[in-house]
Amino acid sequence: MIQPRAEVPPYGVFFTWDIHFRCNYSCPYCFFDKIWPQLAEENRYPGADKWIEVWEGIHARYGPCNIHITGGELSSYPDFLRLAAALAQRHFLELDTNLSLDAESFVARIPPRNVRFAATFHPVCTDIDSFLRRAVRLRDSGFPIRVDFVAYPPQLANLPEYAARFQKSNMDLQVIPFRGEYQGRQYPGGYTDQERAAVLSLGGKPFSTGQMMEKYAAPDASRLPLRNVCRMGQMYAKIRPDGTAHRCCKVKDSGKLGNLLEGTFKLLDDAAPCDYSDECTCWRAMVLGREENWLRDWVFPFRRSATEAARP
Ligand code: SF4
Ligand code: SF4
Repeated sequence: MIQPRAEVPPYGVFFTWDIHFRCNYSCPYCFFDKIWPQLAEENRYPGADKWIEVWEGIHARYGPCNIHITGGELSSYPDFLRLAAALAQRHFLELDTNLSLDAESFVARIPPRNVRFAATFHPVCTDIDSFLRRAVRLRDSGFPIRVDFVAYPPQLANLPEYAARFQKSNMDLQVIPFRGEYQGRQYPGGYTDQERAAVLSLGGKPFSTGQMMEKYAAPDASRLPLRNVCRMGQMYAKIRPDGTAHRCCKVKDSGKLGNLLEGTFKLLDDAAPCDYSDECTCWRAMVLGREENWLRDWVFPFRRSATEAARP
């Protein structure tokens, strides 16, 4: 008999949905900077109604789920507001965005109860005044919002000024270490002591900048032995723009779980051995017997602070 998922850690089903690989910004530090055309081949635009039907079906089978929508930039997905409004009636949405969206329309059409934002401030593509205006509007309308900032070396000099502006608006700025190459140096290992201190001094929670720097600088340390038994695939799935589902963000053929748009998607009935766990660098891997390492990072439905909970 299949154990009800509400009784299985982490006590709810999580999805990450790469809604499409397209963006209205062009940040030089974007992971996708050189591969947008290749990634875009996976993009599908079946219409909001089709996706609404798909997520209704997921709700019927697995109940309310936590859907982390990312990309690319979600707000440039056709008819995104209508889609998000429909999904938020059944599920909990975490929206990864550069916040170029129309905050007024969002507030007018979507109640904040089941939606939170993970926004990133990209000063190479937007100005701080308009970003803060949108962020504050959403926050003051009841949407929990976290703001990240990539510690890309050329934009480090302005970081103290940005941090002060956010602080003045009572918003935290979470500094994310840059991962990649800049002027022949590999980061985050390439930060000078002074830069590293500046990044760390402004690091925040829930996953501290210091932890991230260590993790990204030495990913081998987190590798797992071969064929660990993992709940990714049972309690989590990663969805690509063409609807293909994988048991985790290691997108491997042996971890495929069918396709949402084709009606073949199904979660695993139980935790299962992972053929590629020796390559796993995920700090939230739901490995059996290691619950103390990951359970606190999967809170269902998403965590609201006391202040957030007090808002409408
Ligand atoms: S906003 Fe995000 S997805 Fe778009 S280019 Fe910048 S880093 Fe990439
Ligand atoms: S062990 Fe790692 S690679 Fe394997 S399914 Fe779990 S998260 Fe994915």
